[in-house]
Amino acid sequence: MQQSSVLVYGDFQDSLDALIRMHSICHTGDIFGSKRCDCGYQLKTSMKMISSHGSGAIFYLANHEGRGIGLFSKAMAYILQEEGLDTVEANLELGFVDDSRSYEDAIDVLKFLRDKPVTLISNNPKKYNALKEAGLNIAGRMPLWGDVSEFNEKYLETKVVRSGHIRGEIFNEQ
Ligand SMILES: [Zn+2]
Repeated sequence: MQQSSVLVYGDFQDSLDALIRMHSICHTGDIFGSKRCDCGYQLKTSMKMISSHGSGAIFYLANHEGRGIGLFSKAMAYILQEEGLDTVEANLELGFVDDSRSYEDAIDVLKFLRDKPVTLISNNPKKYNALKEAGLNIAGRMPLWGDVSEFNEKYLETKVVRSGHIRGEIFNEQ
């Protein structure tokens, strides 16, 4: 049984604006530094962004490995990707939906910890909209791209082309 956790920095309850990151667990990227994805880079960079901002929180989400398919199936999906499938096609080929991640528990915890506005560190408009639809007080979204290499080029491209991620500027609700 995996456990999610929250890493809180600064005065998360009362600061005027706090940065948050909803980070899906990634054994291969976060722990072993795999360059097939950008998770490790995103985790470390969002920690730096939060500390220089002054307050924020990282929600480290269990059961989100490989967009929810688990570590074993993610390894199977990597084999299919070696054969030319992209991330989305590989998950579908294995009989999964492309993305089965749920943010409900994290949203409940966030509501408990803070009701002032938060800015979401993410390139994923679906994640952003899920938080907004859940009634969270969202001030905007801050993109996080980097660490592009020959190993994750296609993975990142798939995020843009197939999953609607935005290579964009800071976005504010106002
Ligand atoms: Zn990853």
